[in-house]
Amino acid sequence: MNESFEEVVRAFLGDEEQLHLFDDLTKVNPVTTTTVLKCLQARYTVNSFYTNAGCSLVALNPFQPISCLYSPELMREYHAAVRPQDLKPHIFAVAEEAYRNVQSQIDPINQSIIVSGESGAGKTWTSRCLMKFYASVAASATSPKGNEAVERIEKRVLDSNPIMEAFGNACTLRNNNSSRFGKYIQLHLDRFHHLRSASIQTFLLEKTRVAYQAPNERNFHIFYQITKGATAEERLAWNLPEGADYRWLPNAERNLEEDCFEVTRDAMFHLGIDHSTQNNIFKVLSGLLHLGNIQFSDPVDESQPCELEDKAKDSVKTAGDLLKIPIEELLESLRIRTITAGKQQQVFKKPCSRSECDTRRDCLAKVIYAKLFEWLVLVINESIYADTSLWTSFIGLLDVYGFEAFPENNLEQLCINYANEKLQQHFVAHYLKAQQEEYASEGLQWSFINYQDNQSCLDLIEGNPLSIFSLLNEECRLNRSSNPDLFQTRIEKALSDNQCLSRDKFSKKPNFIISHYAGKVCYQLAAMVEKNKDPIPPELVHVLQNSKDALLQKLFPIAENHQNNTKMQNRAAVVTVVSKFKSSLENLMQILNSTKPHYIRCIKPNADCKAMTFRKEEVLSQLQACGIVEAITISAAGFPIRISFQSFADRYEILRKSRRSSKNSACDKSNFHTAKKEATNDCGMVKNTALSPTINCRLIFPTQLEQL
Ligand code: ATP
Ligand code: MG
Repeated sequence: MNESFEEVVRAFLGDEEQLHLFDDLTKVNPVTTTTVLKCLQARYTVNSFYTNAGCSLVALNPFQPISCLYSPELMREYHAAVRPQDLKPHIFAVAEEAYRNVQSQIDPINQSIIVSGESGAGKTWTSRCLMKFYASVAASATSPKGNEAVERIEKRVLDSNPIMEAFGNACTLRNNNSSRFGKYIQLHLDRFHHLRSASIQTFLLEKTRVAYQAPNERNFHIFYQITKGATAEERLAWNLPEGADYRWLPNAERNLEEDCFEVTRDAMFHLGIDHSTQNNIFKVLSGLLHLGNIQFSDPVDESQPCELEDKAKDSVKTAGDLLKIPIEELLESLRIRTITAGKQQQVFKKPCSRSECDTRRDCLAKVIYAKLFEWLVLVINESIYADTSLWTSFIGLLDVYGFEAFPENNLEQLCINYANEKLQQHFVAHYLKAQQEEYASEGLQWSFINYQDNQSCLDLIEGNPLSIFSLLNEECRLNRSSNPDLFQTRIEKALSDNQCLSRDKFSKKPNFIISHYAGKVCYQLAAMVEKNKDPIPPELVHVLQNSKDALLQKLFPIAENHQNNTKMQNRAAVVTVVSKFKSSLENLMQILNSTKPHYIRCIKPNADCKAMTFRKEEVLSQLQACGIVEAITISAAGFPIRISFQSFADRYEILRKSRRSSKNSACDKSNFHTAKKEATNDCGMVKNTALSPTINCRLIFPTQLEQL
């Protein structure tokens, strides 16, 4: 802690022991990262986990259950309060404000609560609590269609959580229950403001996890749930003998709360997925586990397909049985490539190399899992969605992955960080608007200085005609084997004008660096083009379409005729990962732009997920990444120092006296200047934050002085 900070604290915050009382960071004077950090720490130690920050709420993760913090009583208290914003900062205050905005019918009626933060910060926990809040305060008046057998909409909406988490969450190094997808859920309210329907939109499931788990991480929870929770009968039917080893099921000995199969099954049942369909789903998942145990070895003769070890032969048989794909067909699709060439469209068959066989096996698992996840979201939506004529407004909850910067970053991080840039742009625009409105309401003249927006970074990533996305897509369209070194040169040549682009010149690996609002990130180019293409060999599509399994037939329907099929496949080849992601994000941004946003910034106070441990450096980097520091900077570009009228009057008595002695003017000019000088001296203690002359106009705004 530096000296000037000590001074600042003494001068503006008074006693440091009182720091925890600041429940709004914009009231901290002056607003700097140091003061903000100090204040958050002080609050954390007294169990105040929520703090307002202008139009955002900062949520610190306690990493331990805090009694009564989310109780139904507390929900009711916030719901019943005359001014919930006057109660202690809480996610329920944000939720209630959004709910009241809907009721007040002021444009825009629809609301969004954007929950952000890094992995393990508490986004999903927060979203779940918000859903529970609405399920309670906006509970529907009647049972659906008077049919007691169908669960009420609130229950169905809440039950979507365990399903989505079982299939979309996994234990990672950073969070035991990490969401491997982004989610936007809309809660639809009818004209009586009761929950009537809901819809879920998901983004970018990390499907690679099915076939690859980083050291000390795990596969999606559902795989552990079925292997641990199946009955003896089910084990037999799904071919999951107790104690069997699966390559794609690492760290199964760790028992997590999330391994509970019963909860997922019940939730699926409540959402209309009957036992026989569930059975089918789990059988297919078991098939994937056996698929993972298929290992190839190099053939003696290269003209021959790769060999299978004895153990792998059993796995092929079991996987084929469970997926209802004839074993020979399954093996051929994994080991043989079909090439059509020449004018006569002659068909050649060529054995795949061992690594190609591995890639195909992994690809088969990924494509099945991704389609299954997509289908589950569809089924959930069918169960919770009601026709638009039945609801009039909505509150959307966005639980989206935060900014990521690892030692090695690739296409996944590029997409995630691009989404965060988009949300940051949205936040800044909204924040500036809120500040403008506040200043205008106080009759202030002002102009923003030094404010930098992130448009050029977004131009670099997604702009037209030239950007990283457009160049990536072009590489995929050209369909040539991609050379990362050449691609690096192409990027640099085409985008050299953009200040946000640079390169790690000390690295031997081809890369590019983007200067994001939250910091610089170096992206590796190796495999990026391939990841963007995300190709599915046609032989795999063929075996899936010809499976006799009812679920796989639903997931991979055969196109009406062959011509259509080829056309679809060609078209699919052009739809790259980034173009799909960009369009789903644009769709989301359009929805967000049409709503009134509320921001909850979740912060992970320490990387070890330890209860009640606050590490300043770690918190600071997250404040930076979630845009709070940026907001503080913008705030400082406006009026960094705010003093309440009461404390101003107490401190600068002279103003009041002069006002009373002069009936005709709000304040005597010479006295005003003395007061102003005094105020400037006081505030001048804050280095680098020049006191704008206009702030005095704000302080003596006559109507407000009158009220003192
Ligand atoms: P990811 O991006 O990896 O999905 P996340 O931000 O969604 O992470 P959560 O899964 O919501 O993180 O939270 C991580 C863990 O932190 C939870 O499993 C829970 O143990 C704990 N936690 C989060 N918020 C709270 C809270 N308000 N009170 C108590 N514990 C919490
Ligand atoms: Mg999560």
